[in-house]
Amino acid sequence: MVGAGFAGVGCVRRLERKLSPDEAEITLVTPSSYQLYLPLLPQVASGVLTPQSIAVSLRRSRRYRTRIIPGGAIGVDLAAKVCVIRTITDVTVNEPYDYIVLAPGSITRTFDIPGLTDNAYGMKTLAEAAYVRDHVISQLDLADASQDPDERAARLQFVVVGGGYAGTETAACLQQLTHNAVKRYPRLDPKLIKWHLIDIAPRLMPELGEKLGSAAQEILRKRGIEISLGVSIAKAGPEEVTFTDGRVIPTRTLIWTAGVVASPLIGTLGAETVRGRLAVTAEMNLPGHDGVFALGDAAAVPDVAKGEEGAVCPPTAQHAMRQGKVVADNVIAALRGLPLRPYEHKDLGLVVDLGGRDAVSKPLGIELKGLPAMAVARGYHWSALRTNVAKTRVMTNWLLNAVAGDDFVRTGFQSRSPAKLRDFEFVHAYLTPEQVRARIEGKGGAEVTEGTAE
Ligand SMILES: Cc1cc2nc3c(=O)[nH]c(=O)nc-3n(C[C@H](O)[C@H](O)[C@H](O)COP(=O)(O)OP(=O)(O)OC[C@H]3O[C@@H](n4cnc5c(N)ncnc54)[C@H](O)[C@@H]3O)c2cc1C
Repeated sequence: MVGAGFAGVGCVRRLERKLSPDEAEITLVTPSSYQLYLPLLPQVASGVLTPQSIAVSLRRSRRYRTRIIPGGAIGVDLAAKVCVIRTITDVTVNEPYDYIVLAPGSITRTFDIPGLTDNAYGMKTLAEAAYVRDHVISQLDLADASQDPDERAARLQFVVVGGGYAGTETAACLQQLTHNAVKRYPRLDPKLIKWHLIDIAPRLMPELGEKLGSAAQEILRKRGIEISLGVSIAKAGPEEVTFTDGRVIPTRTLIWTAGVVASPLIGTLGAETVRGRLAVTAEMNLPGHDGVFALGDAAAVPDVAKGEEGAVCPPTAQHAMRQGKVVADNVIAALRGLPLRPYEHKDLGLVVDLGGRDAVSKPLGIELKGLPAMAVARGYHWSALRTNVAKTRVMTNWLLNAVAGDDFVRTGFQSRSPAKLRDFEFVHAYLTPEQVRARIEGKGGAEVTEGTAE
């Protein structure tokens, strides 16, 4: 099993439950020791939740017996049935398999925009969320201390790119953070704080439909977030960002959440892809390779429920966690020589937490705003958390935040060297299909090589 996200953990837990230990050995390759509940990441950035509360332990499970290799898969040789792994200590391991399930998720999608990867922050990992929170609070601290009005104004402008649910929630929750925090900075003029949310698309969160999408936009506009649609970034620098409509925004904060692409691991397979995601059957099997399965953000799983030719499931947690269970059943069926079953799930809708008491959601097509939407959003996420301990941590954090608010303290992540888009995600180490082949032909078997970073 490669990847311990919604898809990977859903699959592993079911395999542990349904397969006896003498039937199969389960191995999980993952760089981190937790499953990250990504939809609540903006609430970590805004301080409503502590980072630990959405990092769900992989080892806390009644039937836990999986062998966990701490590292990332950097290549797979489908012919030799070997997965090449780089451990967290940079040791390269060749791991043979009989069946492999690929669920390495996605990474932030970037474009060839001058200065982007050197100057933008992402919102895809726990460390990034904690880092961005520290960064935003440090801008308030520095603006408060500065005697230079231009520097002050620049530090209090913030730009978020990406009007999907991740970007919209990030902008909304962080705006709420600065709105609440500024009360503790009597020297700062609250009117100087300005959040920009921009997207090249003509609408925010098109999945919500026109009416609810406009309602969300109106809520954010009323809170002072300036929304610019049909606009992207032309270039980014350390002290300013240039929009494609020519505006130059002096700012020290550019947060980039403009979509995702499948993990680079998929490219190492040399197999067919659909817009970067591995092309699989409705049973999530790689055509021509019986023991190879892929799912979640990394795979283009046909959306059978939609019934449209060529439709694939969107990259959402809702699909990934359900696909995990079906893949587990299909691995077991393959092992026992039984027929595989296709994945089919009708989208349940979307919930969007806009910070404070603001939310919009569309469960089962019903459009909700305000407190009912907030109750549905939080109720949905809470029930989807996998362990009771995680549920308790999240609920306690929500209650504490509602009663006592935030202390707006920096934890010190800012004091180390600047860390931008490429510094947090597992994106660097991957091998080409030729390098994978050469490694396996040259070394054979399952062996370990110290410090073989290519
Ligand atoms: C800010 C934000 C908000 C979101 N909100 C929602 C929402 O409200 N509703 C919703 O349905 N979806 C939401 N999503 C999308 C959702 O989180 C993803 O679709 C979902 O996480 C995909 O599940 P996955 O298992 O494929 O990947 P992930 O959950 O990302 O898991 C992938 C795992 O693989 C690991 N990994 C990566 N590379 C390797 C490698 N080479 N080898 C081994 N392991 C590797 C990663 O560390 C990670 O643990 C949101 C995403 C973000 C970023």
